[in-house]
Amino acid sequence: MKGMRPEVLKGTCVDLSFEGKGVFKAGSDVVFVDGMFPGEEGEVEAIYRRAGALFGEVKSLTKVSPERISPKCKICHSCGGCCFQQLSYKAQLEYKSKKVREQFKKVGHMDVDVSPCVGMEDPFHYRNKIQMPFGKDRKGNVYCGFYKQNTHVIVPVKECAIEDERATAILDKIKELCKSMHVDPYLEDERRGILRHVLIRTSYYQKQIMVVLVTTVDSFPSRGNFVSALTKACPEITTVVQNINSRDTNVILGEKERVLYGKGYIEDSLCGLSFKISAKSFYQTNPVITEKLYSAAMEAAHLTKDDIVFDAYSGIGTIGLIAAKHCKQVLSVELVPQAVRDGVKNAQRNHVENFSMYCDDASSFMVRMARNKEKVDVLFMDPPRKGSDQHFLNALLALKPNRVVYVSCDPSTLARDVSYLQKSYRVESVQPFDMFPQTSHVETVVSLSLKNVDKH
Ligand code: SAH
Repeated sequence: MKGMRPEVLKGTCVDLSFEGKGVFKAGSDVVFVDGMFPGEEGEVEAIYRRAGALFGEVKSLTKVSPERISPKCKICHSCGGCCFQQLSYKAQLEYKSKKVREQFKKVGHMDVDVSPCVGMEDPFHYRNKIQMPFGKDRKGNVYCGFYKQNTHVIVPVKECAIEDERATAILDKIKELCKSMHVDPYLEDERRGILRHVLIRTSYYQKQIMVVLVTTVDSFPSRGNFVSALTKACPEITTVVQNINSRDTNVILGEKERVLYGKGYIEDSLCGLSFKISAKSFYQTNPVITEKLYSAAMEAAHLTKDDIVFDAYSGIGTIGLIAAKHCKQVLSVELVPQAVRDGVKNAQRNHVENFSMYCDDASSFMVRMARNKEKVDVLFMDPPRKGSDQHFLNALLALKPNRVVYVSCDPSTLARDVSYLQKSYRVESVQPFDMFPQTSHVETVVSLSLKNVDKH
């Protein structure tokens, strides 16, 4: 309660914010509230103020939205990971298309047609990557969970409605082994203990599972026994990696890694190709939607056999490798060395020869390409949440690929970047995908075409 006395206000929820919070209005007061939906009326307790905005909790509802449903997960109120568990799936999808349209208007000052958001048939248990901090209560019981919003307090989670169900049993076994083998969870306040986080990656089609134990120290007592007891109890685990992170940091993974069991990576299939995925490489978290998204990205690119394709922010090379069979040549660039090594291996394992991958900053690479006046016909770009930058975008405007397919996980930076490209590019389509059901996040594919085609 930062500098204010809690106050109960009567009013109406009029909208949903960018973060998926209810926008509650009481006279001239506006409060952002989790789990309140447009049209609902009732009492809200304003609890704290951050960056000038008021945040609160629902106390009681006198009018309930027809879109309100009962949540699948009992702790969705305290965990904060899934703000939309109580909102019908149809309303979630509508919110996401609207959010994209609004960001284009607000940030990009553009009116664009946004297609309906592509959703899932079963929008639960879709996540193929789970990372949880570990803790220990006063009785010595080990738990794991998610950090409560804006804190480092762990909300214990036994089952999660959006993670792959195979991970639940593995986490239970790890908790049990930590207790019986005295592998203590790391207690942040006391700066003591061994196990900080556990990361689990599951492959959807190839049924492999990677467990990454993030520890404070390089070696810990009974490490060998721990791993053999775990893999014996959960034979579906195909590899166990130890990641050492001894720093006082919010970043989950440290630099150093050691393979304790199996190959040290997993493999999964997407769009008919097979991919190697290491612990540190980025890989889309929802395999069902990813296949739909990649197919839409390929369609938007209208690739021909003569095209030279550039895939920027390429991760383990997924988009570029899928594009390779439809075009002449693919170049891709990615910053994380482990992902680039995976990408090079992925080209070999899929026998793709018209593909090369570089480990570099995408902007520096693009600037160099523009300076050398290289030919690019189609550009795929899939930057992280903060979007691209002006060096990259200026180089893009100089290179003038005929088509740009922009894949984004943040509609606000997407709108900013697309708006910058408007002078030379026309927006052909804006297609949101529900990569993250039950949350407020949305993934979008925007297809752009060069306005004046007299480039050569
Ligand atoms: N296209 C891939 C990855 C998208 S995620 C896929 O669909 O799986 C964004 C990727 O951009 C991550 O792999 C991240 O490591 C990479 N990245 C982040 N900043 C970068 C930069 N400045 N230059 C190049 N790659 C970057």
